[in-house]
Amino acid sequence: MKQKVIVIGAGITGISCAEELRRSGAEVTLIDRVPAGDPSQTSFGNAGILAREGVMPIANPSMLKMIPQIMFSPNSPVYLKWSYLIKFAPWALGFVMNGTRPKARPIINALNELLYDTVERHTQLAKGTKADRYITSGDLTFLYRHKRQFTSDRFANQTREDLGITWTELSRTNLLERDPHISNLYKFGIAYNNHGWITNPSAYVAALALHFQKNGGSIHAGEVVKLGQGTVMLKDGQKLTANSIVLATGAWSKGLASALGHNVPLQAERGYHLSLKSSSIMPPNTYLIMDKRFGLTPMDGFLRCAGQSEYAPLDMPPNQKAINNLRQFLYRLYPNIEHEGETTWQGTRPTLPDSLPMIGRSPKDASIVFAFGSQHLGLTMGPKIGQIVRDIVLDKPSNIKIDAYSPSRFD
Ligand SMILES: Cc1cc2nc3c(=O)[nH]c(=O)nc-3n(C[C@H](O)[C@H](O)[C@H](O)COP(=O)(O)OP(=O)(O)OC[C@H]3O[C@@H](n4cnc5c(N)ncnc54)[C@H](O)[C@@H]3O)c2cc1C
Repeated sequence: MKQKVIVIGAGITGISCAEELRRSGAEVTLIDRVPAGDPSQTSFGNAGILAREGVMPIANPSMLKMIPQIMFSPNSPVYLKWSYLIKFAPWALGFVMNGTRPKARPIINALNELLYDTVERHTQLAKGTKADRYITSGDLTFLYRHKRQFTSDRFANQTREDLGITWTELSRTNLLERDPHISNLYKFGIAYNNHGWITNPSAYVAALALHFQKNGGSIHAGEVVKLGQGTVMLKDGQKLTANSIVLATGAWSKGLASALGHNVPLQAERGYHLSLKSSSIMPPNTYLIMDKRFGLTPMDGFLRCAGQSEYAPLDMPPNQKAINNLRQFLYRLYPNIEHEGETTWQGTRPTLPDSLPMIGRSPKDASIVFAFGSQHLGLTMGPKIGQIVRDIVLDKPSNIKIDAYSPSRFD
């Protein structure tokens, strides 16, 4: 008999789980309060980078040294309202404690497992769907003001080398050969090889959802208010049942997951984008601008500049200062850039203090499988999480060790 599965959340995580399960023969219903590709999803407006190199936890030995500089410099890429400090403090403490070398090492290995084959995983997920056209391969270039900013980060560089992540050093001359518009603020670069990006993240997710639906998957519009024991309750009073329920509700997962009795220290880490239509300058591949910590991606007809980390409640209105920062950072890189209009967006990353997602069956309720918490890397790791969840739900053997992602690790 076919396994009946409900997946809640139609962002990149949920659609990856739903499609993998459908392909393996399960009867899958995908529930979301908004359509896939909607601007309220975090999957709508990210930088599109398939960050295979992103193995460093957000809190890591190099980053901890920079906290005072990051928090107190004007136009910092990271910020926090002082009025939120008391609520934020317990999470921040856990976050900082995970940044030491001994704590970071197992986290790095667990992140690497989710990232190392990202381009192949996306290619496989999108194969035969209209999402396929949005996948591009190429370098991911980190831009630095000076070479020493790269060389001084020995822990991260050694970690990446140990994991077989390869790169090419780019002098200022090399950078200009690739992109003559880079301002003279940036004198050094590192091109990480074998990376990729998605040229329109919202269209990508929408195309995957359409394929899922056209091939027998069911999509149900509604807001889930309660779940447990194989049952999902919707806001309009409907009740749906399944053998397994996958919770892939991104930054909104805390309430539903905590109601099952788990400690889920999920923090809303808000980010922003500025997209320039018909930009006069397009970088040859994706960039991360290291002093201001933002991503720059040549997309399908527009240039996207995305970043900022704002620790704040989920429902706080967008902060115009973050958009102004991004605009200012972009003009520092490309002083002569022109365009035909801009759009702006705020989205919310789901971040746990150890930078790892929660993936696995809830020990409190065997019908529930967690799949959320993919922080800055949810697009990159989405298809891999989809495969892991498929194997958990269908009880398939797997070589991937999932203990590090355990839903009960903070209980
Ligand atoms: C500025 C920015 C830049 C980023 N850049 C990158 C990048 O370059 N590369 C990368 O890999 N990652 C990036 N990320 C991170 C990435 O976008 C997220 O990790 C990822 O989109 C999370 O996907 P998700 O499917 O888990 O969540 P979402 O996309 O947010 O989807 C969650 C879904 O759950 C639904 N939902 C929630 N609660 C309920 C409920 N009760 N009932 C029904 N439905 C519900 C929501 O409506 C939503 O559709 C970036 C994030 C930001 C903010």
